[in-house]
Amino acid sequence: MITVKSYLVGEWVSGSGAGASLFDPSTEKAIATASSEGLDLPAALTWGRTKGGANLRALTFAQRGVILKALSKAVHGARETLIECSIESGGTTRSDAKFDIDGASATLAFYAGLATKLGETTFLTEPSEQLTQSTRFVGQHVLTTRPGIALHVNAFNFPCWGLAEKLAVALLAGTPVMSKPATSTSLLTFRMVEAMVAANVLPEGALQLVCGSVRDLVEKLEPEDVLAFTGSADTGAKLRGAKSVVARSVRVNIEADSLNSAVLAPRVGPGDEVFRAFIRDVTKELTQKAGQKCTATRRIFVPRDVLDEVQAALVEELSHLKVGNPSLDEVRMGPLATAQQLADFKSGLGKLIESGAKVVLGGAERPKTIGIDDGKGYFVAPTLLVADQPDTANAVHEHEVFGPSATLMPYNDAAHAVALVARGQGGLVCSVYGDDRETLKALVHGIAPFHGRILIGSSKVADQMITPGLVLPSCVHGGPGRAGGGEELGGERGLRLYMQRTAIQGDRALIEKLFETPKA
Ligand code: NAP
Repeated sequence: MITVKSYLVGEWVSGSGAGASLFDPSTEKAIATASSEGLDLPAALTWGRTKGGANLRALTFAQRGVILKALSKAVHGARETLIECSIESGGTTRSDAKFDIDGASATLAFYAGLATKLGETTFLTEPSEQLTQSTRFVGQHVLTTRPGIALHVNAFNFPCWGLAEKLAVALLAGTPVMSKPATSTSLLTFRMVEAMVAANVLPEGALQLVCGSVRDLVEKLEPEDVLAFTGSADTGAKLRGAKSVVARSVRVNIEADSLNSAVLAPRVGPGDEVFRAFIRDVTKELTQKAGQKCTATRRIFVPRDVLDEVQAALVEELSHLKVGNPSLDEVRMGPLATAQQLADFKSGLGKLIESGAKVVLGGAERPKTIGIDDGKGYFVAPTLLVADQPDTANAVHEHEVFGPSATLMPYNDAAHAVALVARGQGGLVCSVYGDDRETLKALVHGIAPFHGRILIGSSKVADQMITPGLVLPSCVHGGPGRAGGGEELGGERGLRLYMQRTAIQGDRALIEKLFETPKA
């Protein structure tokens, strides 16, 4: 049995007591335990804030970039070990494991590259404003690193990328991090951080890891600290209500649930390249990581006249997909990550069905599994539902079933499609497929205020675009409303969470000297 350790105050440590058990979701065998009981987390928070903060703020962006590059290499160097660990501890296929692990190293590498561009300085500036008749007296907005620590709390579904995408941005901003992975999949995060620490490039205090509960640590955060959370809307709401957040203005970024949509524009038929791209992307989003992605498509909207064709095409694609032992090459989808996820998936489907959706493929029954003969494992089938009365199928727009399931629905016209998409009350991503510019304009303008990101699948890019669920570090990730109201990544934009914008008013020449960027 493996003991998942925490990395606190520069040491690998284990909590006391039996701890939580972590299971291989394909076999249901306990493989590890994690406990933070008895660990002095508030002391570690203070140590990170003081020691790690001072060490990082003494470095320029470019110097921090060197660290990020080395961390990226360390993750890449441990790739094979991490993939094996992901298959065993998360039930991912090899391809799904790479999505998480390579996503982590790529995001660290991206921010290393941005660091080089930002150069040998420690602050960011914005264009100056002339404040009076005199061109001499100006207001200059500058961003400097806040002297706090970032507490990062992550969801179970991306044990590597989840830590790395937040860490990359915070370290580049000069902010030390205490990261807490979801306990159920923390073995993989532990292994990745082991590789990072072994690379011996992290300044003392720059990164700490808590595996197990953080208990009431959020309440120990101080005004200069940051809380960045990814997980369910319920936990997000609880943390947003913490006294430290409400009374001490701790900055908080919440990334939560999302009922992401894919919309097929009118006048796109089965013979069209755009139609094929739409079917390809919806299939991928439904099944990649067994649908356990915050950006996975949950609602599929198509014009009423092609509903049957879309249903037939999706059923055709999905019914051939092999489910089973994720270590086998032929298997395309592994199990859900935990027994709780399996129970939630089944009860979630029940809610959708109660609200008028019908299962046309898959469902709550255990599917035929390849390479698993004993009936064990948290397996479910790719599941497609159809709700032919989308206006009254309330649960479909309100309840996120976190697994390989999506609901297909018809719409009447572009305005109706926008109204239905908006019923999700704020999402991370919406994908829109079509070529007609007028229709796309109505859809994209209507949908944009409810989303952090929109991907347009038109025929000119159908064969070269990314799938909607892929989060790239150069674009923002987050969404309004139900999605948590947060915003992460987006290149330099992401740094603003960790920095203070100050308007410096005075003599233009003097301010320019104070915030001069050293020549390379
Ligand atoms: P969760 O149950 O809300 O847990 C998320 C994290 O919060 C875990 O690390 C959990 O720790 C921790 N936590 C729970 N209660 C806490 C408390 N009182 N104080 C501090 N930390 C606390 O969510 P999940 O089941 O791991 O993740 C699935 C959800 O995440 C889905 O709804 C999905 O949509 C969402 N998600 C969103 C994004 C996004 O970017 N928007 C990305 C991925 C996932 P323990 O594991 O120790 O309980």
